[in-house]
Amino acid sequence: MQPTAQARKPESGAATMSLSLKGVQHGYQTGAGRLDVLKGLDFAIPPGEIVALVGPSGAGKSTLLHIAGLLEKPDAGSVRVGGVECAALNDDQRTAVRRRHLGFVYQFHNLLPEFSAVENVLMPQLIAGHARAGARKRAVDVLSYLGLAERLDHRPSELSGGEQQRVAIARAVANAPRLLLADEPTGNLDPNTAEKVFEMLLRLVRASGLSALIATHNLELAGRMDRRVTLEDGKLVEF
Ligand code: ADP
Repeated sequence: MQPTAQARKPESGAATMSLSLKGVQHGYQTGAGRLDVLKGLDFAIPPGEIVALVGPSGAGKSTLLHIAGLLEKPDAGSVRVGGVECAALNDDQRTAVRRRHLGFVYQFHNLLPEFSAVENVLMPQLIAGHARAGARKRAVDVLSYLGLAERLDHRPSELSGGEQQRVAIARAVANAPRLLLADEPTGNLDPNTAEKVFEMLLRLVRASGLSALIATHNLELAGRMDRRVTLEDGKLVEF
């Protein structure tokens, strides 16, 4: 099911933000009582901006990425992706917005083991309703941009860790999303490979003109992004 016309209607006025969070609250019920993680958080990413999300383990980075990625609904507050208010959408509508506007890269690549690199990149595009021929061309183009032209037909088990993660990056951007969300995208790689893969990720995001919110522990990598934010007492602050 597609979002309704009303649900898709973008906000008017200033340039549409790729992501806009207002007054977002979220917490968990734990054995030790209620844990408030996000406490009225406001944040926006304009088109084309790459933001580093830095902070110690347990600060709430994954919670924030899940809410921005529409994988979890906040307890309160507004979540807009490309101007669409998502807080009140039902699950089907959220899935449609996610497929159309969002790309995800995780620390572990989550590629489908029985499919080749190009098929892994192709599949989300087919699910999003793109024609096969165009989707395949786009998959080949993005994989080639990431230096994998010779690895198109390799399965994940036939690729190195850095190559697997490059396929995962290609998969995330092949749908031409508005916003890329990444949770420690190079955290599982050795420092030398991580450096190269991260460089390619930044180059591809900039060349594609998308926005990105990238969680990382690595301050040197964070320093190469346009802006750095961290979670302090459930709110985002720049540093
Ligand atoms: P980060 O990604 O920065 O490590 P998380 O967003 O994963 O932080 O977690 C923030 C806090 O919320 C942590 O203290 C974590 O233990 C807690 N938490 C995360 N998910 C749950 C859950 N499903 N139930 C209870 N507590 C959770």
